Amino acid sequence: MVSLALGWAAYRMPFARPVATAHGWLEHRAGAILWLDGPDGVRGLGEVAPLPHLAERELPRALALLEELRSEIERGEPELECLLDDWPDCTEAGRALCAALETALLEARARRAGLPLARWLSGEARVTVSVNAVVTAAPVAGAVDEARAAVAAGFRTVKLKAGVAETEAAEVERVAAVRAAIGPEVRLRLDANGAWTADRAVRLLRRLASEEIELVEQPVPAGDLEGLAEVRRRAPVPVAADEAVTGLEAARRILELEAADALVLKLPVAGGITRARKIAELAAERGCAVIVTSAFEAGVGLAAALHLAASLPGPLPACGLATAELLAATLVDEPLLPSGGELRLPARPGLGVTLDTAALARWRREGEER
Ligand SMILES: [Mg+2]
Repeated sequence: MVSLALGWAAYRMPFARPVATAHGWLEHRAGAILWLDGPDGVRGLGEVAPLPHLAERELPRALALLEELRSEIERGEPELECLLDDWPDCTEAGRALCAALETALLEARARRAGLPLARWLSGEARVTVSVNAVVTAAPVAGAVDEARAAVAAGFRTVKLKAGVAETEAAEVERVAAVRAAIGPEVRLRLDANGAWTADRAVRLLRRLASEEIELVEQPVPAGDLEGLAEVRRRAPVPVAADEAVTGLEAARRILELEAADALVLKLPVAGGITRARKIAELAAERGCAVIVTSAFEAGVGLAAALHLAASLPGPLPACGLATAELLAATLVDEPLLPSGGELRLPARPGLGVTLDTAALARWRREGEER
């Protein structure tokens, strides 16, 4: 007997403008929206969003796994909860799918309780989350323009994608130009997306010591935890692990090695809200900060990340959630747009967003829907 009806639709859409990262240019975002309809008519939404540079390969894998698990998922909420607890697939695709299904399950529960998801997760959930702007242009002039516009829009933290310049001198010059453009009061973060070796990172960060860098995300490749720890020991800039935080066990290893001052939490990478909250708890015990960041999801996944961030206790650095406008469409009726460097939590129950079916139809990935 089916007591949860599963549906999904895959999308593929362009970024509003190409995003420069050390993984290369991001030009398209592929993902899928899924929904679970309960016997009481309550719907929960989730978004399957493997990291954008991997999504063309990982999304079909995630959707194949979704179909494989369909009968188990549709048995009902208690069965789905057990499946999520004992999730069978820890690959990139598997974690992204786990996050989407869990979001849909939890959203339905929050809706039934009449509460925003963050409030359902924590009675002390915050109502606003401070967010950073992300500067994605590679050329110095473009990066400077974007950074200035961010400060004019009220952002107090700017994150610059690094690891994109050809030489160390050019890298230093680009960072210095952005620092000069935003002035001394605004926090400046770098994200190298794993582009550097430990030695290069230390050298660069020493040269950048006078630029007051708040932190550097993932200076070395995700698999190099020793390198990350080395950068943290030798460089005069705090270090955040991002791509390396691939779940609870990975987070535990990073904390044991004292390899990071902060952990970046992305739902499709961490494997969902419950696992991300558990990682945040472990990090807090070790005095390590967490930063919730989108994976450039459309509006459903972005809302889930915002609720996660709002549910976390204690001080929270600016989160990487000001990303709605980086994509051609949000696929929801209520895009989560920051104001004055903050995102306000939707007040409605659940995720607080409604699927924009016309936009979803427009960006639907050919031949992929159920
Ligand atoms: Mg990052």
